[in-house]
Amino acid sequence: MAALGRLGVDALEVRRVAELERCDGLIIPGGESTVMQRLAEAYDLFEPIRDAIRAGLPVFGTCAGLIMLADRIQEGIVGQRTFGGLDVTVRRNAFGNQLDSFEADLAFRGIDGPVHAAFIRGPVIQEVGSGVEILSQLHDGRIVGVRQGQLLGISFHPEVTGEDRIHRLFLDMVTSR
Ligand code: GLN
Repeated sequence: MAALGRLGVDALEVRRVAELERCDGLIIPGGESTVMQRLAEAYDLFEPIRDAIRAGLPVFGTCAGLIMLADRIQEGIVGQRTFGGLDVTVRRNAFGNQLDSFEADLAFRGIDGPVHAAFIRGPVIQEVGSGVEILSQLHDGRIVGVRQGQLLGISFHPEVTGEDRIHRLFLDMVTSR
């Protein structure tokens, strides 16, 4: 919300279907994907979000949000499901636990100069389908940023390092739709 405020966006937090229906785009932030699933189910938001993604709503998923967008996950808990939409396989907690968090400078397609990224128990993108564009990789080749149509997904948190350019990229996706 703070990043969107810095970019001058009229943003709202989505907890109800009526709020979802007001949105031109949706950002699913970091956090904990299993909790997001449970809350989305409890608030009757799971199917509406899944359906909105299928209908072409632009959605940006960061970290746990990327997990929620992935069609396939590894290391999920029993019964874990995602909204899906991105033809990728992600591996949860691929970098280890909270203490293994790290920051890195990344090249990111469409953005000039390095993106400073914070990785906090993030997922790695293990496999991508043929329609998925790879936007960013770590130096060892692991994929940490992808786009497929109206969906944008990254493994890390740009907002905690004050990096707003990926959010800006997403806004361009929303406004050029
Ligand atoms: N490990 C979390 C999950 O599986 C994601 C962590 C994060 O979003 N920073 O959902």
